[in-house]
Amino acid sequence: MELCFLRATAVIDVDKMKIAAEIVTVVFDVDYDLITEPFGDYSPNVVLERVGELRSRHLDDQDKPKIFVLFDENAVESHGAIILGRAIAQSRVAVVRWWTEPERTAATCLHELGHVFGLTNRHCDRDECLMYPHARDRQIQGKTGRELYCEECWRTITNDTIYESLHNASQERRSKVTRGLNRVRAAVTTVSERVRRPKPLFPNGVVHTPRTFPDINQYQDEHSFLYAVLKFYGLGKDSEETGQ
Ligand SMILES: [Zn+2]
Ligand SMILES: [Zn+2]
Repeated sequence: MELCFLRATAVIDVDKMKIAAEIVTVVFDVDYDLITEPFGDYSPNVVLERVGELRSRHLDDQDKPKIFVLFDENAVESHGAIILGRAIAQSRVAVVRWWTEPERTAATCLHELGHVFGLTNRHCDRDECLMYPHARDRQIQGKTGRELYCEECWRTITNDTIYESLHNASQERRSKVTRGLNRVRAAVTTVSERVRRPKPLFPNGVVHTPRTFPDINQYQDEHSFLYAVLKFYGLGKDSEETGQ
């Protein structure tokens, strides 16, 4: 399971999008991908159609279940957040009203993902909880899930199978990067082995954040630079096989 953030149009600033995505994923302790290619304008009436299109563009080719969060500056607002209904929650897609303040967008996003993670069509009557139906200005950054949701909602979210699957996949991805590095280190010291260039993990237009491409001037020698590049690419399968 992966979590992808998209933007409806290029009006939405990519850097701000990253900040919002970062705030949200820190709360849930999960990884994310950012798709910067604008998704396009749409009317809320045809959103289901567009979701189908989205799936065929980004889902089918990778054979991996994904959760999509589409930031849209024109999204229709209702109760301060966006209600998208059951069909969207079941498709693991949320459309989130984009605000120029990333923290405000993140709050809306955390609310909508609550609907994707087990709280389908459910709100909370505790006004200190993010699942309260009316948005209020609140500080999100630096707070944990336990502080932002009430105990009951947070328990529902963290016990939800979609959430668990996303959380586990993120943990697995992080541990793979560490294990893979050791394997490549061994491969590079064997002179007879040829180090193949890893394939980028993500297709064009998909940026895996928040890492930046390593700067060669920051490394003492080309081997440490190479490790950094391999790490940047998330260690594709090819590079892991060089030890064999
Ligand atoms: Zn809601
Ligand atoms: Zn609650």
